[in-house]
Amino acid sequence: MDYKLAVIPGDGIGPEIVDQAIKVLYRIGQKYGHRFEYNMLLAGGCAIDATGKPLPEETVEVCRKSDAVILGAVGGYKWDTLPGHLRPEMALLGLRGQLGLFANLRPAVIYDELKEACPLKPEIIGDSIDIMVVRELTGGIYFGERGHREGKLGQEAFDTECYSVYEVERIARTAFEIARKRRAKVTSVDKANVLESSRLWREVVIKVSKDYPDVVLEHMYVDNAAMQLVRRPGQFDVIVTGNMFGDILSDEASMITGSIGMLPSASLGENSFGLYEPIHGSAPDIAGQDKANPIATILSIAMMLKYSFNLDAEARNIEDAVNKVLKEGYRTGDIMSEGKTLVGTNLMGDLIAERI
Ligand code: NAD
Repeated sequence: MDYKLAVIPGDGIGPEIVDQAIKVLYRIGQKYGHRFEYNMLLAGGCAIDATGKPLPEETVEVCRKSDAVILGAVGGYKWDTLPGHLRPEMALLGLRGQLGLFANLRPAVIYDELKEACPLKPEIIGDSIDIMVVRELTGGIYFGERGHREGKLGQEAFDTECYSVYEVERIARTAFEIARKRRAKVTSVDKANVLESSRLWREVVIKVSKDYPDVVLEHMYVDNAAMQLVRRPGQFDVIVTGNMFGDILSDEASMITGSIGMLPSASLGENSFGLYEPIHGSAPDIAGQDKANPIATILSIAMMLKYSFNLDAEARNIEDAVNKVLKEGYRTGDIMSEGKTLVGTNLMGDLIAERI
């Protein structure tokens, strides 16, 4: 098959890590007979330097005409003092909004080889942790009505949590579909004991679940979910939740894996279109030094193959290659431990590509 990819390397370590992901994708193309066409695009600080805007229209247009988007990271010291609307990070919000990316997928996986990086005790980790947090990305309190007003106690500020049936149905379906590709369990997280919007959320999730009798559904209040993630993380497969709860829980789930350079993410829109990026930032402190871990970006490519192109075997091939390289003892600085072999960004990319 032929696939058109929009590639946004961005700033800092972005270009270095994206290069490694493309290296791996090239091998996948060779092995399985796919052709990937790359359109290199500007966004973030480099776009501000070149065009005066963090997200040029051309970038959005080309992304829209592509099958998927690969993003490195944006931002850096150089642009930190610019006014809010001109900051590189505005490119991320702009891309999510303009591309209609409503579902954020954040896997949290503990690799056998990196168990020592997990801050939890071995008996809590158990056999393995493999969680997928599916966060609603374009609704809820971050986008609800807000403002300042005069209240009973004087000046006050407010934000509003609001979810429509349509929004909940859409994210619930995404979660159930993903669960079918995994261990067929969905935990829907809400605060239905207190919030009206959560009661609607729960009602709609239950309704959608009728179309997925093969997937087990359970409900959990967000406070309990936060505790269970550090108490018995092995119980979770797919967690589906709203924007704010998902923001917090996805970071908590990431932390229990212990290594920011290992974590990919996907933001999905309609018709399996998606944007794929590592969860970390542009790491300006190590940019251009061949020190960045490219694995989060490489695993983001695996997510792209799986969720946008339905190429499960190819995705697994990448995940297996990453596992193999880790088993053989190769490590970038961020995941280095005694007795292992320290490698740079480039060599890590080569080693993974060679094992495809
Ligand atoms: P960061 O994720 O860039 O870095 C945090 C720490 O983790 C740093 O010490 C960094 O060296 C390290 N690190 C990050 N990724 C790594 C990797 N792949 N390999 C090895 N080490 C890695 O977060 P920050 O320092 O808070 O932010 C730096 C810049 O990135 C800021 O401008 C911020 O706004 C931006 N940012 C961008 C995104 C994005 O593009 N999605 C996300 C978060 C932050």
